[in-house]
Amino acid sequence: MTIININVPVGIINSVQDYAKILQDVMQMNVSFDILKFSTTPKGITLIIDVPSEQLGSIKEVFKNEGISVESKSTVFVEHELCIDCGACTSLCPTGALHLTDADELEFVKEKCIGCLICVDSCPRRAIKET
Ligand code: SF4
Ligand code: SF4
Repeated sequence: MTIININVPVGIINSVQDYAKILQDVMQMNVSFDILKFSTTPKGITLIIDVPSEQLGSIKEVFKNEGISVESKSTVFVEHELCIDCGACTSLCPTGALHLTDADELEFVKEKCIGCLICVDSCPRRAIKET
């Protein structure tokens, strides 16, 4: 599976019918995918979805044909030498990718990371970096 970031600018979707058309295009490809995050901003709508890697190309094509940009998601890494295991980042991580172990040490599970980047600014030691 591959996590992608879909940015729908203001103006592309003005009604429920516009949503329906895009979803219909995707459904016709008979693809299963998980929506990991849905957010709205003044610039438009952002979706983070987890799609089968082998169908990534055709999914991108559908969205691009609708004028919607698709990017592979970035992820993060932790510079453990800077980390003081305070746990501040773990309370914000929506997937549990960042968590404290029973020994109260920070652990990062890359496979669970959806690249939302919420954690980056939460670290008082700047130990979390985007990659
Ligand atoms: S970017 Fe940070 S907060 Fe977001 S899922 Fe990955 S580890 Fe968690
Ligand atoms: S917020 Fe920074 S210092 Fe605290 S546990 Fe997370 S990575 Fe470590």
